[in-house]
Amino acid sequence: MVNEVRIIYKEYKTALNKLKYPDSWFWGRYTINPYSGCAHACIYCDARSDRYYLDQDFENEVIVKIDIDKNLETRIKNARSLLPDVVAPGGVNDAYQPIELEQKNTYKILKIFQKYKFPINIATKSSLIKRDISLLHEIANDTWCTVGFSITTTDEELASFLEPYSSPPKDRLKAIKEIKEKGPQIQVGTYFMPIIPYLEDNDENLEDVIKQSKKNGADFILFSPGLTLRDSQALFFINKIKNSSYKNVLPSLLDLFKGKTYPPTNYVKKVHSKLLKLCKDYDIPIRIKRWIPKDYRKWNYKISELLLNKEYTEFVTTGKSNNNLKWAGLNLNNLTESIIEVSKRDELSKLPNFNSEIVQLVDPILKNSKDYSLKTGIEDFL
Ligand code: SF4
Repeated sequence: MVNEVRIIYKEYKTALNKLKYPDSWFWGRYTINPYSGCAHACIYCDARSDRYYLDQDFENEVIVKIDIDKNLETRIKNARSLLPDVVAPGGVNDAYQPIELEQKNTYKILKIFQKYKFPINIATKSSLIKRDISLLHEIANDTWCTVGFSITTTDEELASFLEPYSSPPKDRLKAIKEIKEKGPQIQVGTYFMPIIPYLEDNDENLEDVIKQSKKNGADFILFSPGLTLRDSQALFFINKIKNSSYKNVLPSLLDLFKGKTYPPTNYVKKVHSKLLKLCKDYDIPIRIKRWIPKDYRKWNYKISELLLNKEYTEFVTTGKSNNNLKWAGLNLNNLTESIIEVSKRDELSKLPNFNSEIVQLVDPILKNSKDYSLKTGIEDFL
């Protein structure tokens, strides 16, 4: 099905946004939106919530950003301090929504990122991404490239209700397979999120999404139970359910959320434990392997990945967050020298959130690394 949206052309001054910390799930440090608005019009899409301040009719209007590639190149050229890091195109829009076929904004910005050797992580619900496999494979060979397909059900009828204008799940699964075959260096997997309570959290669906992802060659599954229900987005979603053949789940759904934005911790914990077991049974990683730069950030990023993955694993297995691990891992990305130099000075405990437990974990790893005897200053890179 095609969503006949109104197309608006607009020039924006900024093309690339830098995040204060990387995203510890997708490892993105920069975001860029080739379009504003999304013709995929998924009924649960969080972009409808007030916090995004989108001044447009979200699913009926798509803004094409004019000259986004030129603005991007100017920004990269003019900023000497803009170090390559993972770019995540599309946030509150899908970079491969139908308009991309004709406008090619995503393709154009990928060419710029390839030229300046920025790694890429793209999330999509569209098999149109297959058009760019060879370019993505070149990026993967040069630096790093990850593609994640958002797949939350293998029930085609349910998917066509929840995500009416996206590629059907079976086509997304086929796309995983094709990307792995034609672009083996590309890390590709499934974003199993949001899992809609009472529609997608049954044992059969949980297992089938994981089983089919594995069967088609997925390198990872990132999962997240529940969905967010926030202001205008919640009203839109609830209204859609109320007027559908799925209306029987509405009382249970509303009772689970009890007017809150997120489902309760005990629900999340229960679904997490099922998903963890399934990923273990199907032998599929639950984290994305991070891009590691070759410059002074190398060990900062490696250790950050270790700490953030440890924090995540503790959270999904116990339900408890470890803020020290989380903030030690995040802050490390902003260190302006190599952590190896800090370790050589025996000053790891001075790093933000590095308590004795973290120092004891990290110090031996650094001291045993083959890079410990090398000079790892910022000047190696600049
Ligand atoms: S594809 Fe993503 S951005 Fe587009 S409507 Fe669906 S959830 Fe929203």
